[in-house]
Amino acid sequence: MSETIFSKIIRKEIPANIVYEDDHCLAFHDVAPQAPTHVLVIPKKPIVNVDALESEDAALIGHLWMVIQKLARELNIAESGYRVVVNCGREGGQSVDHLHYHLLGGRPLAWPPG
Ligand code: 5GP
Repeated sequence: MSETIFSKIIRKEIPANIVYEDDHCLAFHDVAPQAPTHVLVIPKKPIVNVDALESEDAALIGHLWMVIQKLARELNIAESGYRVVVNCGREGGQSVDHLHYHLLGGRPLAWPPG
């Protein structure tokens, strides 16, 4: 896959407001937040999107969900509720070709999304 802005954030070549990091993933505040809490959770492995996942990524994806749960609690949105969004491809609204989970909360979120 080609280089993305998120690769540079992982390598700390450009700054981000990082809220969590481990060997497998990174979480940081979205530069254009769509809710009072808007964090992106990404794998360090350069996976383009959901469509590019392989069976060997199953444990990594499970880990990302556990990180999302932990962050929602730490950011005080677990009790009120939150949304996790993964855009995939052009019509899915994906603008950065590195798999990422949007963790959104802190206000009532409308449904369906636009
Ligand atoms: P997508 O549209 O691909 O699902 O989401 C990409 C997200 O990345 C957008 O919400 C956008 O605001 C965020 N984003 C793009 N570039 C940067 C950046 O350089 N830093 C941070 N923190 N977020 C970014």
